Amino acid sequence: MSDIVINNKLDKLHEECGVFGLYKNDEELDIVALTHDGLYGLQHRGQESVGITVIEDGEPFTTKDLGIVSTVLDPKNLSKLPNGKISVGHVRYTSSDYLDRAATQPLVMRYIEGSLALANNGAITNFPEIRQRLEEGGSIFQSNSHAEVIGFLIATHRLQSDSIEDAILNTMQDLKGAYSMVISSPSKLIGLRDPHGFKPLCVGKLKNSYIISSESCAIESIGGEYIRDVEPGEMVVIDEDGFKSYHSEIKKKTSLCLFEYVYVARPDSIIDGVHVNLARKKAGELLYRENPVEADIVCGVPDSGLDAAQGYAAASGINYATAFIKNKYIGRTPQGVGNDKKERLLNTRLNVLKNVVEGKRVVIIDDSIVRGNTSAHIVKILKQAGAKEVHMRISAPEFRYPCYFGLDLPEAEDMISNKYSINELKNRIGADSLAFLSINGLHTIAEGCNIGLCDGCFSGVYRADKPKKKFFDRFAKKINKI
Ligand code: SF4
Repeated sequence: MSDIVINNKLDKLHEECGVFGLYKNDEELDIVALTHDGLYGLQHRGQESVGITVIEDGEPFTTKDLGIVSTVLDPKNLSKLPNGKISVGHVRYTSSDYLDRAATQPLVMRYIEGSLALANNGAITNFPEIRQRLEEGGSIFQSNSHAEVIGFLIATHRLQSDSIEDAILNTMQDLKGAYSMVISSPSKLIGLRDPHGFKPLCVGKLKNSYIISSESCAIESIGGEYIRDVEPGEMVVIDEDGFKSYHSEIKKKTSLCLFEYVYVARPDSIIDGVHVNLARKKAGELLYRENPVEADIVCGVPDSGLDAAQGYAAASGINYATAFIKNKYIGRTPQGVGNDKKERLLNTRLNVLKNVVEGKRVVIIDDSIVRGNTSAHIVKILKQAGAKEVHMRISAPEFRYPCYFGLDLPEAEDMISNKYSINELKNRIGADSLAFLSINGLHTIAEGCNIGLCDGCFSGVYRADKPKKKFFDRFAKKINKI
């Protein structure tokens, strides 16, 4: 089987990854089953590869492959893992056009003290410079994974540091950009969040055992209790002495990705003090206040448009209705077959309830418009089902700038909002009206968030250094030849 698989993406956004880890202090717990279930709870963050590493007596045992939890982590593969002390789990979506089997995580690497298993969510913006420097020094890499470079740096710093903790804190000095990680050493489970705090990471407990997870929903889905978020620049370490927290000396503007609240995270998660479902509902309320319209029903595009649609309905007094049935078995990044696969995948993914929309003026709420194909399809099938009017409302501002920190957005020149005015776009997608949430409104939905927020892809103002473009491009070409 080839190690590189062409990635057939639809016109929807994709998350970067989900990370999960467990340190078992309760003999009766089944660490393999719990990590499997935790990754199920994070499946929405990545459906291209999945893996689990379990540490038993300091040694790593791993199962991982391209695919989703239900196909890769089948009973046969799980039976190869011991009921050990520490686990690290990962679900992945890649922003590259290729799926690199060598980059599936957890990445397991050997260093002076034994094995490191690494699972990362994010994008290191100075990755090309670091990797080139290391390659010029003779280092060899197996994959295009940022986690591999981070593991190499940790192993190198360990040679001059007193402990793995110091080695990781020193590694943080080398890294720029976004990273929320779960790492295991032979005897420790470590959670690490970059000083900007771009991606979520939180800590929970199940009995006396500790969990680290991208989102609180995964902690609760295995019966655990969400304790708190890992703070930007914080490293949490769990070992036989208990739970410890360390803070990097690096001080940066905190910058949680606002799009986590709009689309990426699961609605039953709490991120940095804000309930995701309530943020989405508030987005719908603000959308109505900013962009009211007379209509008969308000509907959401599943899944992330549903809470926003409820908010719009509550604020407007217009009836909320279910217009779409989503095929739950396709996932967010389906693979299609045949020449017209994109059109057929859209049809397979969403079906309209004709008896709900026929003869009605419909407000339809979605989370984003990137290239416009999906929005045009949604309007088309609503009108084919007999909707009298279709008013599209988007629970985020217009995408106008790239994301350098892990969300797979197209280049600015390919974003439809940079090609057409809102009125032109409305005509292109066939809607009767179209409006977006304002950037101020977007910040309002995250009221109560206890760290700073990134809106860079909407405003063009980033709270962290962008990568050096020349370097970035050169490396991107090189990677695509792998
Ligand atoms: S640029 Fe946009 S998608 Fe990227 S981290 Fe910032 S808000 Fe999130």
